[in-house]
Amino acid sequence: MDKTLQTTLAESIRTIPDYPKPGIQFRDITTLLNQPRAFRRSVDELVHPYAGTGIEQVAGIEARGFILGGAIAHQLSAGFVPIRKKGKLPHETVRIAYSLEYGVDEMEMHRDAVKPGQKVMLVDDLIATGGTAEGAVKLLQQMGADVVAACFVIDLPELGGRAKIEALGVPVRTLIAFEGH
Ligand code: AMP
Repeated sequence: MDKTLQTTLAESIRTIPDYPKPGIQFRDITTLLNQPRAFRRSVDELVHPYAGTGIEQVAGIEARGFILGGAIAHQLSAGFVPIRKKGKLPHETVRIAYSLEYGVDEMEMHRDAVKPGQKVMLVDDLIATGGTAEGAVKLLQQMGADVVAACFVIDLPELGGRAKIEALGVPVRTLIAFEGH
């Protein structure tokens, strides 16, 4: 990976110590989205390996995955599938529980949002423990989707999320790694 990309990303992501609770280093991508070059490069780098591979849908995880996923879907001439917290989608949904650091929550997608065999890319801003993305991949796979990649701008490798997704047979692409939580 070229140094320019690493520098562009490192300089555009803001770190907020002890947010939302003590011990968490919150990696804030609103500053990246706010910088045209950083936003564009992030989208380009996530799209690049998959251009022309026949991805039909990009699934984005609420809420930051919507921003990146929408831009990526546009670049790939793919559709977009929102994966949302429970109770937000208006039509018939499928739901899955997923693990958070403390406890569990549930996410949903519309039952008719992907068709069996469709090639889908999953997108979020960051992978930490991988619990959120694991839930999303399982939901998509349950609906018969062929999840060909899970893409994130940021990886927190110490939390081991990548292995969880790869164990589901889905390759993971990330652009920058940060130490710690
Ligand atoms: P996880 O399920 O542990 O992989 O957590 C991933 C989700 O939580 C993503 O939607 C992230 O946006 C959010 N998240 C987890 N840790 C952080 C962090 N240190 N900074 C910013 N967002 C985070």
